Amino acid sequence: MRALSLQDSVVTFRESVQEPHKCEGEVLVDVILAGICETDLQLCKGYMGFSGILGHEFVGVAREGRYAGHRVVGEINCICERCEWCLNGLGNHCPSRTVLGILNRDGAFADTMLIPERNLHRVPDSVSNERAVFTEPLAAAIQISKQIDLVGKRVAVLGDGRLGILCAQAIRLSTDAVVVVGKHPEKLARFQGLGFECYELSKLDYRTSFDVVVDCTGSPTGLEAACGLVKPRGVVVLKTTVAGEHQLSLASLVINEVTVVGSRCGPFDEALSVLEADAIDLTGMVSHRFPLERGVEAMRVAALPGSFKVLLDPQR
Ligand SMILES: [Zn+2]
Ligand SMILES: [Zn+2]
Repeated sequence: MRALSLQDSVVTFRESVQEPHKCEGEVLVDVILAGICETDLQLCKGYMGFSGILGHEFVGVAREGRYAGHRVVGEINCICERCEWCLNGLGNHCPSRTVLGILNRDGAFADTMLIPERNLHRVPDSVSNERAVFTEPLAAAIQISKQIDLVGKRVAVLGDGRLGILCAQAIRLSTDAVVVVGKHPEKLARFQGLGFECYELSKLDYRTSFDVVVDCTGSPTGLEAACGLVKPRGVVVLKTTVAGEHQLSLASLVINEVTVVGSRCGPFDEALSVLEADAIDLTGMVSHRFPLERGVEAMRVAALPGSFKVLLDPQR
């Protein structure tokens, strides 16, 4: 099979990779579409020290098992099912987990991938592949509302990129008072088109403040900007991981008694319900689509400022 793999921060397309060796409980899935996300770009900069096949956002067809022949999406944390975390329903924090295309496990930028069957969710027939491929990042966006009560809160989403647009729409399912703050007028226009109140960060009056600020920037400077926008006693949600170090004085967090919440993976079942109900708009989210063999180019394009979601299409 073919795959896009990362070694020592270099991404290579490989024409002939051995099909993965199966362990108990795992099934093979033929990938239909896979999405490149900010985390993949950060992995290429050394985040997590990952080497192997990249990719954790996908829709595919299960070759075997309970979902054989059906379209599936998959949760990315592969857990031990035995430790205290797993037994308490917090398997995403299992200390011996592997994570698809991120930690000690090959991912979805390949013709075929291997995943524990328990991680799979069947895609409803009414949800297209082009929408289903957003299940993982949408679930992550929905996770914010699982961690903090957003009802009645004034929320700023910081970052006008692909994660920002999912988070802003997921948050709007809980509260109408969502503002988007970004650096790029042309990207903010996309949010305006969806009915969001938008501001350019450089023009924002710093006396404007919010109960909750969600950092979706993927930039080491995002946290500092978020701290500048949050109200005393407010909450800053960190939604992106970055390879670089944060250079930030924490005094403002102490003085303003700010709560910082890290937020990672979310509920796939709810994300699929949201997609099935057509409750969020994904029009125009995909800016490029590449066959797998042009994956190296696809990764480069995904990192360009003008790009939005870039998809890999192994079946093309
Ligand atoms: Zn991702
Ligand atoms: Zn465990």
